[in-house]
Amino acid sequence: MIENYVKYLEFITKKLDSFFENQRDYIFCKKGCAKCCKNAQFPYSLTEVTYLLQGAIELDEDTQNKIKTNILNILKQKEDFKGDTFLYDCPFLIDDVCSVYNYRGLVCRSFGLINQNPLNNDNKTKIPFCYKEGLNYSNVMDMELNEITPEKYAQSGIKEEPHGYNISYEFLTDKDFERGFNFKFGEKKALIDWLIGFKKY
Ligand code: SF4
Ligand code: SF4
Repeated sequence: MIENYVKYLEFITKKLDSFFENQRDYIFCKKGCAKCCKNAQFPYSLTEVTYLLQGAIELDEDTQNKIKTNILNILKQKEDFKGDTFLYDCPFLIDDVCSVYNYRGLVCRSFGLINQNPLNNDNKTKIPFCYKEGLNYSNVMDMELNEITPEKYAQSGIKEEPHGYNISYEFLTDKDFERGFNFKFGEKKALIDWLIGFKKY
């Protein structure tokens, strides 16, 4: 079944790559920029985490030990956490580089684009937060209004317009993809909650 998920992953990654390519004048992602791998929840399905761990098993012992230390530290922080939503830095991020890049999940592959989900009740457009740091879409954002404006776009001189895509996690893990590629995503929860078993080792 994981083979069918990998086929889906190839299909969707190609699609996402074409979106990034179309929006390349607004995208400032580069290796070592890991702000989107920090301070978040990282939703993952059972199938995604199974594949991610497949990648982790292939890593050298030193890197695996660093990941394990990260996981244990985060689990400890989570135990002590008293608020509503626990946010954490991804344990697979080592020296600001993803140690399991080829095995990363869907949320990791789509971040950086504008999310525009037509099924959202409020049809709200979500601009990646890193525009505030002078990164993606910052060249067309009006920082006071917190939105992309026609004036800013005109000033940018960029030919391709800024464009949103339906890249919500709900859409990327839709049942139609399960049916089309013959696999199941399975249960979904925060990545760290899949890693609780590491406490025993
Ligand atoms: S999406 Fe933003 S924070 Fe993430 S790598 Fe790209 S520029 Fe950096
Ligand atoms: S799996 Fe990799 S890309 Fe995804 S959040 Fe973790 S470090 Fe970032």
